[in-house]
Amino acid sequence: MGTIGFIGLGIMGKPMAKNLLNAGYSLIVYDINKPAVDEICSCGAKYAVSSAEVAKMADEIIITMLPNSCHVQDVVAGKNGILETGKAGQILIDMSSISPIISKELGGKLAEIGITMIDAPVSGGQEKAVSGTLAIMVGGDKSAFDKVLPVMEKMGATVTLVGELGAGNITKLVNQIIVGINISAVAEGMSLAKKAGVDPRRVFEAIRKGLAGSQCMEDKAPRMFEGNYEPGFRVNLHIKDLWNVLETSRALCGSVPLTAQVLEMMIVLANDGHENLDHGSLGLYYEKLNNTSLKG
Ligand code: NAD
Repeated sequence: MGTIGFIGLGIMGKPMAKNLLNAGYSLIVYDINKPAVDEICSCGAKYAVSSAEVAKMADEIIITMLPNSCHVQDVVAGKNGILETGKAGQILIDMSSISPIISKELGGKLAEIGITMIDAPVSGGQEKAVSGTLAIMVGGDKSAFDKVLPVMEKMGATVTLVGELGAGNITKLVNQIIVGINISAVAEGMSLAKKAGVDPRRVFEAIRKGLAGSQCMEDKAPRMFEGNYEPGFRVNLHIKDLWNVLETSRALCGSVPLTAQVLEMMIVLANDGHENLDHGSLGLYYEKLNNTSLKG
């Protein structure tokens, strides 16, 4: 497989890169944050001074794990980007959660110089990035997918090819819609219970195994009762994903009224200074709305 390029060594990228090193792959890495690069190099990776140098030094595979569309655009098509030095036959696996519209746009530009792009965003958070058990949702060419599958399996417990390029990020947006609305529903229901003088913890026990039960409820309801909003998945990242939902839906003339509502709620949370709390802090939004506390 030769040397793999890895760009973006943040909360998620760093442990993912470490898992590849532990599996025996050689890596050439780049991040604008030098301490993150130093940490990965102390684990055996080599470093590059730009994304262009990563593309030049990497053999077949380059992986990106960046915050949003504009960062991936910069790394691929900006100054000192992958397009400047990338080689025909390479495969770019973008594992960032970005707009599927941008995935397709960048995939087209890369194809002009013979690079195949696949989009492969993840679900699972830092903990699963560390344990190498992420859920990876992939869009792209099947033969490119088959080639890079063994590499992705070192980072994820499940790796699912959903469709063409862009389908990975569409899947991630669907995930973020369902999670955001689900958490809001839990917070809304529990705050009604509290307002009515019924213990939300007892409500949770009564309904968790029924149809209303969900992984979201299991994870977030106890946090709301404890007032524990340590991330987890931060409100500002979820806002970014829901903006991408709206942009994608509007481009298709689609309608996502519940997502728009949850986005508004998350923006209020962020404006209240909670942008770095876990998205379960939608509980705080409802506490303010109803002048009540879910704790107790
Ligand atoms: P992060 O902000 O911790 O890391 C991003 C890294 O990219 C940083 O180290 C930053 O310095 C680097 N970077 C930014 N611009 C760059 C550039 N132009 N060139 C080189 N490096 C650059 O973000 P994260 O939490 O690791 O998330 C990465 C992606 O994964 C996001 O799209 C996020 O939505 C998604 N995601 C995150 C989580 C989570 O729990 N954190 C869970 C699932 C998916």
